[in-house]
Amino acid sequence: MKDAEAQRPIRLRISPAAERAVRSGHPWVYADSIRAQHREGVTGDLAVVFDRRDRFLAIGLYDASSPIRLRLLHSGPPVLLDDAWWTRRLRETLIRRDGLFGPETTGHRWIHGESDGWPGLILDRYGGALVLKLYTAAWLPRLPGLTALFRTLLAPERLVLRLSRNCREQAAQAGYADGADLWPSDGAERVPFLENGLTFEAEVLRGQKTGFFLDQRDNRRRLGALAAGARVLNLFSYTGGFSLYAARGGAQSVTDLDISPHALDQARRNFDLNRHLPGVADTRHEAVQADVFDWLAGPAPADFDLVVLDPPSLARREAERADALKAYDYLARGALRRIRPGGSLLAASCSAHVTAPEFFETLGAAARRSGRAFHPLETTGHPPDHPSTFPEAAYLKAIYLKLTS
Ligand code: SAH
Repeated sequence: MKDAEAQRPIRLRISPAAERAVRSGHPWVYADSIRAQHREGVTGDLAVVFDRRDRFLAIGLYDASSPIRLRLLHSGPPVLLDDAWWTRRLRETLIRRDGLFGPETTGHRWIHGESDGWPGLILDRYGGALVLKLYTAAWLPRLPGLTALFRTLLAPERLVLRLSRNCREQAAQAGYADGADLWPSDGAERVPFLENGLTFEAEVLRGQKTGFFLDQRDNRRRLGALAAGARVLNLFSYTGGFSLYAARGGAQSVTDLDISPHALDQARRNFDLNRHLPGVADTRHEAVQADVFDWLAGPAPADFDLVVLDPPSLARREAERADALKAYDYLARGALRRIRPGGSLLAASCSAHVTAPEFFETLGAAARRSGRAFHPLETTGHPPDHPSTFPEAAYLKAIYLKLTS
């Protein structure tokens, strides 16, 4: 990865508290904890953190426009980030996923950001295609090197670039656009892949995240196992991920509910792609376009056996935490009203600012207040291809509640 190596790393000194955090493995250095910097940096520079006694502490990617000023690639003894180092880093990341997925699952995450040692970078696989998503512009100068590396070790048929909103402008200046094919130069909008034997299409150029919510794979499988004979309601259904598992699991009917007509169209396509499977062929599928918050305020017969509640992140900032908890409470109570005695609720949260205990407590309190007897069947966290190694990285949690009355 020679692209960005011409310039020598910035030398940084940081506060004692930040130094402790780095030593304990935290991957971020905030701008306000930088005490000294020997030159001004530009986004994409490498920066080395030296400790109080002038010893090498860590090295990372500098982002001049983010409060997270430095995202660490390595902390510990000094290293040279040459081609061999990057190859080793990728090999280690791939080895972590050895044996996780058989031929029935061709859609999964290869690289999960900080927790895999690639801060602000995601790499997902959908069949023969790879989708690279960047959450910091600091990776932009390294894109040619990354492309070469991924092609060498993963031999994809295709590599697509996705950019989070905050780095699109800088990317445009460097000649990159969200949804651009890095290699080869153009390809289809939808890419088919398998997840536990079900066929889905990922909208790799424009879909949310990298085109599909790969992180819910294990919850979807669990839901499928609860679905025999059930009338299922999938709130915030997106492209019907949970719904297809329920159908294959023998659900009597599945109702998808989402605000996006486009997502619901894709859900119909995903059903069509699996009609050859016995369960799916026999399930009645309905797609309702509505705002879940409004819909839950409407008439509420308890006519479902299984409800999935998997909203988008409701707290993108710490300041939104309290409102998010209120929204979860509202959604949970609304969902519970629709479930008949003996039915179940699967409620998930992907808000990093809401902790798992808080979320579970909110759901439990909503169930208690609804006056229904219930039993928490299980709680779950991150799947193994989405590791989380520090508190801010833990965003996904889910709880299964069985209503006994
Ligand atoms: N459960 C899905 C992922 C959900 S993503 C899966 O497993 O694939 C969140 C979805 O919520 C998106 O499809 C988005 O269109 C939808 N959404 C966001 N706000 C909404 C609202 N107020 N009412 C209904 N759907 C909404």
